[in-house]
Amino acid sequence: MLLLIPGPVTTRPEVRQAMAQDIAPWDNDFRPLYVDARRRVLEIARGDPAVHAALCLQGCGHFAVEAAIRTFMPVGGRILVPMAGAYSERMVKLANEAGRVAVPLKVDPDLPVSAQAVAAALAADPTISHVGLVYNETGTGVVHDPAPVGAAIRAAGRRLILDAVSAFGALPLDVGAQPELDAVVFTSNKCLECLPGLSFTVARIDRLEACLGQAGSWSFDLADVYANYKRSPGGFRFTPPVQVLAAFVTALDLFDAEGGQAARLARYRANADALYDGAIAIGLVPYLAREMQGPVVMNIHAPADPAWSLQGFVDALKRRGFLISNFYNTPQPSFRVGCIGAIGPDDMKNFVVAVDEALIEMGIRNRMPGQKAA
Ligand SMILES: *Cc1c(COP(=O)(O)O)cnc(C)c1O
Repeated sequence: MLLLIPGPVTTRPEVRQAMAQDIAPWDNDFRPLYVDARRRVLEIARGDPAVHAALCLQGCGHFAVEAAIRTFMPVGGRILVPMAGAYSERMVKLANEAGRVAVPLKVDPDLPVSAQAVAAALAADPTISHVGLVYNETGTGVVHDPAPVGAAIRAAGRRLILDAVSAFGALPLDVGAQPELDAVVFTSNKCLECLPGLSFTVARIDRLEACLGQAGSWSFDLADVYANYKRSPGGFRFTPPVQVLAAFVTALDLFDAEGGQAARLARYRANADALYDGAIAIGLVPYLAREMQGPVVMNIHAPADPAWSLQGFVDALKRRGFLISNFYNTPQPSFRVGCIGAIGPDDMKNFVVAVDEALIEMGIRNRMPGQKAA
């Protein structure tokens, strides 16, 4: 079964096999692997070990986003969030529940977030200390480049928290060139093609030291994670999913062998192109204009045919060896397909054949959307 979802992704067998062992996380044979995994993650972010640290937390991406907000913002602090889709909505909820104040910025979700709009919002409200940006909005599939938005934040003297969960490892990033970044957050199970269970944050050491004790949570205090590394390199404060960490080392080996971030981006782009072309060739309509379509996840309009049922479609695809999401995040009905994971363009072409067969089996005659996007 291929998982064509934007995480957890299809993994290689070598990655899954690396989990099949019993490991004690504090064992002296294992600790260096953990230290090295963090060093390698920092390298992918182009961090400088004298300036930046890669911090690992147990758990999913939302845990790390919450930890970043808590660690780097005081209670009552204000964070501007461009409302680009489902994951910016989640960031607003996380921030507000943590006692920080989210300031939503209305933007067109089908377009990249404009640096000028962010600059104007920051100029209008000097009480905002942070901006929360989602690099790849997994709800829409649009990429929001943190370089120009970050430059506007830097010029305004504010800080950036970047949700790079569905971007890191595939989309380019250079934390050294973006000192306004307080945190870049990502997980093991998306573009790094490992299993779920670990989340990471790349942050500046000076900021981690300045923010110790601010989180209002011990579990989610990244400054305390860093302080613990200083006391005990290779140590975890609490039990980690140690088998996932072992698999993560193998996943990083495969990442390097493929040619790193640029090669991964090229493969995902080829996947997305094969899907975009294939969908159009069988009479379906992708949600986004081609030039706005990012390489990570694609929404495709649901056919307006009365025989359409998303769950029925998902089941028909599953019988053909492909699993896609059984929900959608777009205003109009759609289905969404992940283009990331250990898959290639040939898998996407086979998937399009399966989609065509599934639609025929379901008796769908009209493949056009109900209301075509303007
Ligand atoms: C997947 C994802 C997350 C985190 O999801 P979890 O289920 O908490 O791991 C956060 N942000 C974005 C943009 C994502 O794609």
